[in-house]
Amino acid sequence: MTAELAGRTAIVTGAGAGIGRAIALTLAAAGAKVVVNARTETAHETASAIRQGGGEAFAAVADLADRDAAGTLAEAALREWGRIDILCNNAGILDRWEPVARLPPETWDRVIAVNLTAPFLLMRAVLPDMLARRSGTIVNIASEGALRGGAAGPAYTTSKHGLVGLTRNTAWMHAEEGIRCNAVCPGATESRMTTGGGPGDMDPVAFGRIGPVLGLFPHMAEAQRIAGVVLFLASDASRHVNGAIIPVDGGWSAA
Ligand code: NAP
Repeated sequence: MTAELAGRTAIVTGAGAGIGRAIALTLAAAGAKVVVNARTETAHETASAIRQGGGEAFAAVADLADRDAAGTLAEAALREWGRIDILCNNAGILDRWEPVARLPPETWDRVIAVNLTAPFLLMRAVLPDMLARRSGTIVNIASEGALRGGAAGPAYTTSKHGLVGLTRNTAWMHAEEGIRCNAVCPGATESRMTTGGGPGDMDPVAFGRIGPVLGLFPHMAEAQRIAGVVLFLASDASRHVNGAIIPVDGGWSAA
């Protein structure tokens, strides 16, 4: 067990399953105390797995589409531990790949709310504490869909492009105040998102356009491959890395 994050505190959203769960377990194994957020009770399962492994964590069940959730999470972390060192905005949802003409506005609203507005609100909620201490690192989980136009549907693609812009702007704005903000862009990664629904749930016409792009990815990653890069970005090993948008996709975006 390494201890590069000993004494640090972290909030990880969407940590009840998949990539977020792997991130929460990895940060905790490195010594961080973790606020484990998910939309449902899965948050408790991850938090209890951390505690069983000797780490410190508590669950914060909250739907991040609710605008009050970000403040509630930050307040809970500050009440419990007095500081927030690491924020990992991981929670994310897909659309059904319908092109714009067929995309229901309510799908657009929900995807933007969870994938883009919630990270903004969480950053806004944790930055006052980080800025006061001139120390903090934010890691946003974007996507291959942030690097290409044809790897996902329009709401998801737009949300992840937006998250990259938010990452770069925040990195630049606070570069001289001890804050770092980076993004990771996973390629296809084992999780409920890739195995739960699958192409059968997706718009069949859009699948004809997106399917060939998906067919280019070299191989599916384990969630741990993403978590390892988040650990690097959360730790002092990356102390001069700021505003970086890092593909973790086995080379997919190089094609
Ligand atoms: P996943 O297996 O579907 O897990 C998503 C997690 O986010 C779950 O814990 C879920 O909570 C939580 N969540 C969903 N909506 C939420 C909401 N409104 N409020 C709070 N929590 C919410 O997804 P994943 O594949 O691990 O994806 C994690 C991140 O990686 C996402 O941002 C995704 O866009 C990105 N990504 C994934 C892939 C991939 O191939 N898997 C590729 C590129 C990018 P519950 O457990 O309570 O449902």
